[in-house]
Amino acid sequence: NEGLGSWPARRARKTPHRTALVYGGSSTVGGGSPTATGGSPTVDSGSSTGSNGSSMDYSTLHTRTTRLAHALRTRGVRRGDRIAYLGPNHPSYLETLFAAGTLGAVFVPLNTRLTAPEIAYQLADSGAKILVYGPTHTALVAGLPGSTDIRSYVEVGPEYEELLEAASAEPIDEPVTADDTCIIMYTSGTTGRPKGAMLTHGNLTWNALNVLVDTDLIADERALVSAPLFHTAGLNMLTLPVLLKGGTCVLVESFDPDATFDLVERHRITFMFGVPTMFDQIARHPRWADADLSSLRILTCGGSPVPSPLIAAYQERGLTFLQGYGMTEAAPGTLFLDAEHAVSKAGSAGVPHFFSDVRVVRPDLTPTDVGETGEVVVRGPHVMPGYWGLPEETAAVFADGWFRSGDAARTDDDGYVYIVDRMKDMIISGGENIYPAEIEDLLLTHPDIVECAVIGVADDKWGEVPRAVVVPREGASLDPDEVLASLAGRLAKYKIPKSVVVADELPRTASGKLLKSRVRKRFGTNS
Ligand code: AMP
Ligand code: MG
Repeated sequence: NEGLGSWPARRARKTPHRTALVYGGSSTVGGGSPTATGGSPTVDSGSSTGSNGSSMDYSTLHTRTTRLAHALRTRGVRRGDRIAYLGPNHPSYLETLFAAGTLGAVFVPLNTRLTAPEIAYQLADSGAKILVYGPTHTALVAGLPGSTDIRSYVEVGPEYEELLEAASAEPIDEPVTADDTCIIMYTSGTTGRPKGAMLTHGNLTWNALNVLVDTDLIADERALVSAPLFHTAGLNMLTLPVLLKGGTCVLVESFDPDATFDLVERHRITFMFGVPTMFDQIARHPRWADADLSSLRILTCGGSPVPSPLIAAYQERGLTFLQGYGMTEAAPGTLFLDAEHAVSKAGSAGVPHFFSDVRVVRPDLTPTDVGETGEVVVRGPHVMPGYWGLPEETAAVFADGWFRSGDAARTDDDGYVYIVDRMKDMIISGGENIYPAEIEDLLLTHPDIVECAVIGVADDKWGEVPRAVVVPREGASLDPDEVLASLAGRLAKYKIPKSVVVADELPRTASGKLLKSRVRKRFGTNS
């Protein structure tokens, strides 16, 4: 087995008694912790429970994964079949992923914040046969339409534990190859209907290797996994590289800034990954100044543009802030800004990962000159073979073997890439290209603005003009004229928004990505 399914066995061979997972501590919400049995009572369980939550070593993870694989096989799962998972961060997520990989089946993680019709669409589209779900989603699952291919449901908790207990722990040796699909991950869908990116075992392995090569990740790492595992970053930039190396992942069900300080102190967390909004909430929290953050070694931020004031806030606190740029289709690591250049190249998303090739190109795929804006394209062993069941959409995003990201960027003299914006968020005003991110970055330096989005609105004279939608800091109020005045002299005139709308909040995906299309719909009309 060349795939991820073999990782627990390989880890159990090398480091059986090291802690793989910690979960269910008092700072996490809701129930759903499995009883910590490793299976048969005669087997030393390698699990423990205490006030700091439960923990599971690699040997137990291996045993439980093997048992689950047997149980799934008994329920009819064969190579290539899809197994969906719906629930917050929990060991059963990883056990199901590894069990699927053990059988050569395909794991389909579902976003817990989706509505029942959205979940039903992804279940039907993937043709999943089995759905493993957390107790948080019992009601939603009960209301799913019967039109999916699901033949069998497994609820995490007593039912799941009984299934494991009744199953064999005999090793399973399926001939899974690096080119077999391991995961179908639906892209967060900031535009259009979600597409299932097929990620092979090879894609995920190369990505994990990129992380190990390009960060100082060590076997003693203790990672805080509060980013959702159903998104590519929480799983692939954090959890899988740490498990590959034999470190410990502390799983929490949802991100909460206050709980984050407790968790970091209690578990002496060394490694965190978050999207910018998470790091922003931490830095704005009253405990930020005094909390003991001395254990933190690696902070990686990515998933959407990282505002420069945020990078500066962490630098001032003495915390090195690494930046990653990637996309679900690239499993996802593509560009990375390492510790050595975090300050000197602040604002850049870095250079390609070790096993990744990235170019910034013109529409005809020729490379742009230094400073010229073009599209980011990426090639490498971590890039997906395509979208599930969508050959035309797949063909449309590849050109000459390069995956077209749809992101606009430019490079500097040293080859560092600066992400400018999404190509399709670009505003064209009187023939001038305006990239909203540049304006948003400046707006965020305003002391009373916590969130903002710049969109294009129709204009008789200019075609389109920028409009700023701003969210005030709690307790503060914003005066549109004053906001505009704060930009004067810092931006070319044509880039200065022609109007400012004050809003309570902005629509975001579960991963914190701004839903620009929804911002445009809600705030983009002239009435
Ligand atoms: P997804 O397909 O949901 O993984 O989102 C990928 C998209 O997120 C990319 O195409 C970029 O538009 C955006 N993105 C990810 N990381 C960064 C970053 N560090 N800076 C700017 N944009 C980013
Ligand atoms: Mg995308």
